[in-house]
Amino acid sequence: MELRLLAPGFTSEELRTIFARTGEMLRFLERRAGVPFNGTRYTQVLLPGAPAQEMNVLTLMGEDDGRAVLDDPREDYLVTHELAHQWWANQVTCRTWSDFWLHEGMVSFLVAAYKEFHWGREDSDRERILARLRYEKVHAAGKRRSLATEAWERAEDMSGPITYSKGALVLHLLRHEIGDAAFWAGLRTFTRAAVAAGGLAESRDLQKAMEQESGQPLGWFFDQWVYGLEPDLVARHREEPGAVVVEIEQRGSQPWRIGLDIAVETDTERVLRRVVLTQARESLRLPVTGRLLSVRLDDGGWLPRSVQHERSWEMLVWQALHEPDAAGRSDALLALADLCKTPEAPSPCAGLPALLHQRAEDDPARVVRQIAERAVGE
Ligand SMILES: [Zn+2]
Repeated sequence: MELRLLAPGFTSEELRTIFARTGEMLRFLERRAGVPFNGTRYTQVLLPGAPAQEMNVLTLMGEDDGRAVLDDPREDYLVTHELAHQWWANQVTCRTWSDFWLHEGMVSFLVAAYKEFHWGREDSDRERILARLRYEKVHAAGKRRSLATEAWERAEDMSGPITYSKGALVLHLLRHEIGDAAFWAGLRTFTRAAVAAGGLAESRDLQKAMEQESGQPLGWFFDQWVYGLEPDLVARHREEPGAVVVEIEQRGSQPWRIGLDIAVETDTERVLRRVVLTQARESLRLPVTGRLLSVRLDDGGWLPRSVQHERSWEMLVWQALHEPDAAGRSDALLALADLCKTPEAPSPCAGLPALLHQRAEDDPARVVRQIAERAVGE
């Protein structure tokens, strides 16, 4: 296997830095695909102002993309993204644009998976959190369509954050739902079967492969997350003696089946519970002891959009400082910023800029520091 680099604007030392991990990425992706790279040579080209574009065994990228990796070696997502297209786009091609997420959502997901492999969990969480923010932004702007749909006129209609970001998030959710072993086996089965059948694939083929490897029917998952429009989840909680009661409402055309991880923390314990929502309104009682500190709905932040959950200033501040994962702390910071924008903003909101500055400096996770910094600016 020969790796070639064509980039007249860079020194050979810079190129070695930018593409240091191409070989490792290639081996990682081959393992995940279960299908070898299609060729004996892979050429990466950096040109001024070039749009990122993968072709068969050749990838074109802009010089700025190369400079970004020199500035921060963790910013090599485009190298992984375009390399992953050698499998999911070039070897496995969606039958029509309706299933374009099988290219772009898939490789966006694999960028996060490779980051997890090379840099660790925090970097893949960062990809997931940023994808969620992108998806929530277009959703809030009213752009809504299902992930796979026949309702398009031009190929561009099927591009954008729904395809890239929600597509990746649905794969993260599926992996969380069926577990690592079944998920990765399912991805290999899907990829091998598609290549063996001539290279064309659609979303139901992915469903079949995941069903085969997980041993469970997944029509409900694909009907909802790939072909449907998800409901908004709106929740509130209240304390009762010895328990926290959580009420969750699904606001959509019909109730979905949604697995939800709930974490409740008090000064004596952290209680974790996974529930499966099936109704438009549900009330859950979680027995706890001690003084309540945090109620976290969707612990880990696996759903493509966050649960709307009203919490007090005190609870949000506690969560921004102490939730164990970056998704929980960034969610709390964003909820604080939203709370303080409302007309009924509580008086402690005067302290929000100082809190954001502090988190932008002190949070252990880069993505939380970045989100805090961005929120200061707004
Ligand atoms: Zn792409």
